[in-house]
Parts: sequence; C-alpha cells; structure tokens
Amino acid sequence: MENLDLSAHTPMMQQYLRIKAQHPEVLLFYRMGDFYELFYDDAKKASQLLDISLTARGQSGGDKIPMAGVPYHAVEGYLAKLVALGESVAICEQIGDPATSKGPVERKVVRIVTPGTISDEALLAEKRDNLLATVFGKDGRFGYATLDIGSGRFLVSEPQGVEALKAELQRTNPAELLYPEDFDLALLGDRKGLRRRPLWEFDLDTARRTLTQQFGTRDLIGFGVEQAKQALCAAGCLLQYLKDTQRTALPHIKAIKLEAEDEAVVLDAATRRNLELTQSLAGGTDNTLYSVLDNCATPMGSRLLARWIHRPLRDIPVLEGRLDAIDQLAGAMLEASLSEQMKQVGDLERVMARVALRSARPRDLVRLRSALAVLPALDALLTDRQGRLAELRSACAPRPALHQLLCDAIIDNPPVLIRDGGVIRPGYNAELDEYRALSKGATDFLEHIEARERQRTGISTLKVGFNRVHGYFIELTRAQSHLAPSDYQRRQTLKNTERYIIPELKEYEDKVLTSQGKALALEKQLFDALFDALHPELDALLQLAAACAELDLLANLCERSQSLGYCRPTLSEQRGIRIDGGRHPVVEVVLDAPFIANPVALSDQHQMLMVTGPNMGGKSTYMRQTALITLMAHMGCPVPAESAEIGLVDRIFTRIGAADDLASGRSTFMVEMTETATILNNATDRSLVLMDEIGRGTSTYDGLSLAWAVAEFLARQSRSLTLFATHYFELTALAEQLEGVDNVHLDAVEHGDTVTFMHAVQSGPASKSFGLQVALLAGVPKAVVKAARQKLHELEGQAPSPAPVAERQMSLSLNEEPAVVSRLKSLDVDALSPREALLLLYRLKEEAGL
Ligand code: ADP
Repeated sequence: MENLDLSAHTPMMQQYLRIKAQHPEVLLFYRMGDFYELFYDDAKKASQLLDISLTARGQSGGDKIPMAGVPYHAVEGYLAKLVALGESVAICEQIGDPATSKGPVERKVVRIVTPGTISDEALLAEKRDNLLATVFGKDGRFGYATLDIGSGRFLVSEPQGVEALKAELQRTNPAELLYPEDFDLALLGDRKGLRRRPLWEFDLDTARRTLTQQFGTRDLIGFGVEQAKQALCAAGCLLQYLKDTQRTALPHIKAIKLEAEDEAVVLDAATRRNLELTQSLAGGTDNTLYSVLDNCATPMGSRLLARWIHRPLRDIPVLEGRLDAIDQLAGAMLEASLSEQMKQVGDLERVMARVALRSARPRDLVRLRSALAVLPALDALLTDRQGRLAELRSACAPRPALHQLLCDAIIDNPPVLIRDGGVIRPGYNAELDEYRALSKGATDFLEHIEARERQRTGISTLKVGFNRVHGYFIELTRAQSHLAPSDYQRRQTLKNTERYIIPELKEYEDKVLTSQGKALALEKQLFDALFDALHPELDALLQLAAACAELDLLANLCERSQSLGYCRPTLSEQRGIRIDGGRHPVVEVVLDAPFIANPVALSDQHQMLMVTGPNMGGKSTYMRQTALITLMAHMGCPVPAESAEIGLVDRIFTRIGAADDLASGRSTFMVEMTETATILNNATDRSLVLMDEIGRGTSTYDGLSLAWAVAEFLARQSRSLTLFATHYFELTALAEQLEGVDNVHLDAVEHGDTVTFMHAVQSGPASKSFGLQVALLAGVPKAVVKAARQKLHELEGQAPSPAPVAERQMSLSLNEEPAVVSRLKSLDVDALSPREALLLLYRLKEEAGL
C-alpha cells in the first residue's frame, strides 16, 4: 500500500492514506458522517475481530477497497471489544466544516485508544486497575514503570533479576506493556497488549526532560528517583507514549514514586499464583483471598484492596495505623454508616481522572456532587478519631463552595451526553436562560405584540401566528387587509387571509431560530468552564478520592473481620510466627463442614516443621493458611485466628502443587526445580517458606534425596521459617538430626477399610499414610485396592527389618543400609586421631569398591 502512487486515488482516499501512514500499527477509525470506516487490512482485521461485515467501497487506485464500518453512536461497545483484545484504535474525526470545505473535510486523529490508557467508564473493568507499563533492561538490570491513568498513580521500580521482573509483571498485570525493540521477549511471557518501541524512546536525558516538564519541576531529586536510571528510562518512554496517544494535557499526573523492594514482602510469581490471592489456580476470581475480603462499597476500595493484597508491607507503624483504624471503627460501630456514605461517593477516583482529562460527562459531575454532598456528614462521623482516621478525615474536609457550584450548574438528572444539551440548570446563566426561553418561543412576547397591534390598528381579530415554512406572521382577514398599516410587509396570501411581517417580528424570529444552536453552544462552554473551575482543586480532589478509597477499604475490612471472626494480629520486629486457632480464610467459607482450626509456631528454636499425614489430610490447607495469615498481617488486616503473633518477614515463598507449564515447554519437574532454585537462592532467615511435596516429579530416590538436601539446606543455611510437607517419611528423621526441626502431622482415624480425616495438627510424625484407603474413598474399584493391599503385604515381607508400616511404604530398599553406612554410624569421629581418620577413609573407600 505504501508504494502506491497517491495520485491514483480519490482525494478522500488520499487523505485517508496519508493519515493511515502516520498510524501504521493501530486500527484507524475514519469518521465519515454517522460512521467510523476502516479500509484495507484494517477493515479485514476489524471485520474478523468484531464480527462485522466486510464490504467494498467503489474503486480507488484501480482496485476495490475493502471496507468495514461501525456506527458512531455505538462506537464504545466496539472499542471495548478491541481494547479487551489488546488492540489500539486511532480515532480520526472530521474537524473542518463540510459546508465550507473544498474537497474532503479536514480530518485529524484526536486520540488513540489503547488498552493501557483508557479512562472511559464503558471501557474499563470496574474492579481492576488498568495499567500502562513499560519495561527496560540494560546490562542485566531492569527498570519497570506503571501508570494508572485512572488515578494518576505513576510508580517505578528496579526489579533485581529476571524472577523479580516476572513477579512484578504478574503482580501488576498491565493491560498494555511497552518494551524496547532489543528486549528479550521470552521474559515477558505470553500476554496481550505488547507494544514494541524504538530504542531512542528510552533515552535517559529525554526521559529526565519529559518527566520534569510534566511535573513542572527543575529536577527529579524531590521524588527520590534521580539514581534509578533504568526505571527513569522506562518512565520516560511511558510518558511519551501516553502524551502521544492522549493528545491532551494530563494535569493529574504530577509525581512519580519509586517502589523499593525492601518496603514490601516480596512474593515471587509462583507464590502469588499458588496462594490464590486474586486469581484461583483454575483461573477465575472466585475462591480467592480477594473474593473473601472484598465487600467494599466502591470499586476504588476494591481496587485498593487488590493492591494491598499484592503488596504486603513491612512497615509496622503503617500496618498498626491500619489495624488501629479498624479497631476504632469497630469500637464506635461506624463501619456500616461509613460504607453507606461511601456508596454515595462511588468511583470518585476515576471520575476525577476524567475531570482531569476533560472527558468527564455530565453524570460524572453529578457523582462528584454527590460525593461532595456526604463530606459534612463524613466529617462529623470521623470527629475525635485518632491516627490514620484523623489523617484521612483531613483529606475529606467539606467543600461547600464546590458542592454549591455543581448544584447550581447541573440539573438533578442530566442526560448522558452534553451534546444534546439540557444539562445546565435553569437560573445558572441568564444568557442561557434567555436562549432557551427564546428557542421554546416565549409566548408572552408574542401576546404583547398581538395586543399592541390590535390596539394600533383597531382590528380585534388580528392574530400573531407561526408556521414552519414562513415563520412568524401577523394575520388579518382579507376583508380587513386594507386597514394594514404601511409598515406591514405582505408575506403570504391565503384564500381568506393575508399574512404580514414587521421588522420586530422578523428580528424575534431570527433570534428564536438561532437561539437553539446558541443555547447548545453556550451549554457546552459553561460545562467546559466547570472543568476550569475544578482544575485548581484537582490535587485536593484526587487526595479526597484516595482517602475515600482507603476509608471504604478500612470499613470493609472491619466488617469482614467481624462477620468472619478474625482477630487483630500482633506484629513485631522479632523473628517468628505463632498462630493459635488459625484457619484458612477461603477454605473455611467454601466448606460446608466446620473448619478445624490449627496452631502453628515457628521460632528460632523451631524454625522448620516437617508436615506429614495422609493425602487429603489437610497439609496444603494448613501450610497455605499459615502463609495467608502472615500475608494478611502484613496488609494491616485482621486474620482468621484466635490469636496471631507475626514477626515481619521479608519474603514468602511457596513451592506447592505441580503445575505443568506447557506453554513455555517446561515439564512439571523442571518447573518444580526452577521454583525450588529460586527459593534456595533467595530465602533468608526472615523468609517464610512453604515446601509442598517436593521431589514428586522424579524417581523415588532422586526425589527423596533432593527433598532431603533441600530441607537440610533450608534448615542449616537459609535458616528460614519453613513448613515442609512431604510424603517421604524418611524426612521425619531430620528432626532428630537437626536442631530447630520438628515433626507435626495431620491426624486421621482408620475404621476398617476407610479413613476419617480429622484435619487436626498433632505433634510428631504421621503413623500411617492411608494411601489405599484414600484410593478406595476416591472410587478406585475394590478389586484394585485389594490387589494393592496384597502387593503391599508382599513388599513388606521382603523388607529386612520390620519397621512401622508407613515408614516402609516409600522407602523399602532405602532401609537396607550398606555395611559402610553401618560402620560410619557406629563410629565416634571425635575419638579418632587424624592419622586414624585418614586410614579409615582409605579402608572405607576400598570396602565400597571405589
Ligand atoms: P493434603 O494437602 O494433605 O492432600 P488438603 O490440604 O488439600 O490435603 O485438604 C484436603 C481437603 O480437606 C480440603 O479441600 C478441605 O476440604 C479439607 N480440609 C483441609 N483442612 C481442613 C481443616 N482444617 N478443617 C476442615 N477441613 C479441612
């Protein structure tokens, strides 16, 4: 298409092709009358994606032009669909006046709708942050920037290494992700909305310039990002892209913040997935921590909750502040009335973003008005509160003048669009009232003329009338027409009547006919002026929105913790986790049967618990609940337990379940080992580590040896607080060999062939694995289970020394100790001289045949 000689095309297609050439990578919606049309490849693509018909338009340049179109009044639905598919759309409007233009009307791309930059209500998912993100990498270091255009939140970070970058991508889950053209795409995974950008857009100096210009500052020192070079490069590219696509001022983007890794509890990508924080392993949002905790009154409260869940903090004063606030709300029984008020506030955050972008609609301003209306009551509700609530209260100070302005300016229930008028309240602007009165036809003015003319002419049947073709007129009967004064100009002659016009009436008529258009234009102007009035208040209003979101969330957490019986955790700088009567927040609400609460205690002296017990016994549940309770405590949220003392952790790691990562071509075992490697390389003595069934994906010996070595490494080297669930019974011996390792098991009771799981955690190792009973419960045919039992007896019969049944199940031949091992066991190493030791080593080697 680029090679075509434009002169072969019609003037309109020439214009189209010129504009399209500037936007080769996005769909171009080209406005023609009541439609947005797409041509050529765009038309083919759109017809497929949107399921609209593909037609052809005449000929241009010798060929038929493929074409598809969508009606302009329904464009939002189509945009929503395209954006959800990760596509971007350039909106090209007619900006010239068709009446005066020669050739095609002038057209211009007014904005580019992209998945990460949308602010329109109809295009956004209510409860999810919609982020534009940029990644940058240089010399093995990464920079990452995200922007939520719906709130102006602009955050950067410098993930340390590939795993950290992946975790960031998963945590933020951007709708659109920009990356430099030389970036390794494999790191970004399979996602929609990927946008390749040229390298020069990531230039550091340009980034500094673009950012300082946007924030109106001389440098970036005040934001604490000056040294974060990789992050700045990412942020610079992001901002340029945003400006290019929005093509309007972005006054609500005023600052940038560096999110340091050590402020938050680090959760790697696998851990976020395994703990089912906002998404379940099945892919939905049901049965997640988020689904249990979210009962917020506003979508912005729900979005904040998701952010708190995904970024648990390590800052005790902040967390205590939140917990205190929740306690105060509960103590004064305020949470219900607070939620009620927040319903009135609604999604103020996104409303304010649209006000900032001047794309707010009349109903957005009505929502802002109702939000402002609750401020006095909110203020009263929060009087005499301390700490965080007092801080939030100060951001919610009443704003009577602004509220009054919106009351005066906008009618109670305005239409959706300003386009058709009827938005500004009568009495707000005298000129508008006059135009409106005129456009409706002010009858008293006409009555006045009629009365005056009757008197002047002495004709009592004189009438003032109106018709569509001729406009206003004075009507006399034909018989009276000779009495018409000389200033009456004849306009129309009918069978029995004559119609006249006088200059005064003509003037009035012109006024009426133009007043409608004038009223509309003036309304639009007055509406825009409201933005001017609101813009100086933008900062304060954005803070108000943020404060309301937090109040909503705190009230919600208060309600949740009361309804679900949570307790306030005690946070401390000391290492260790002690939970009494802990429950799994999600399993307990899903379960029909009562949930069995369990304790856990991890400390310097007891840093690793080896968890054994039958399949289905509740091991995973127990481990995950410990992680979730710990995480919730780091959100400043009450926890499902009778009591909980949580020492700050730096990271939570989980290695749970085996999920094949087929998409990336990694086997179950490879995934398992990669996750394990991440843990072993990164876990510290302040980390909470959950290891579930490690080593399952390979042969028994391999698996057992690996599990053993991993457990030993965690206990000795990392010294992490660890829950280690395993079906390798041999690992329970670690408790005797290593300090700080204890055995616990999940209880089950056998009745003949079946088994009942008690789900209660007991100290000591499990006595039995109940594998066959579980198989029976699961519906494996009785004959098969019977055969298995027989085989088990056989195998047990082969074992040299009769050990308890369970110990032998997985480890039959491992128990046959080679002679070398027996000798080593009986050896008192401390009693050997160096020479004896050396000799012994030679002998042992010989005996082992090496
Ligand atoms: P395991 O990991 O030992 O195979 P799970 O943790 O997956 O077992 O638990 C299996 C099922 O048992 C859970 O889906 C849940 O329904 C039930 N369960 C687990 N723990 C408890 C508990 N503490 N109280 C009640 N039911 C439980």
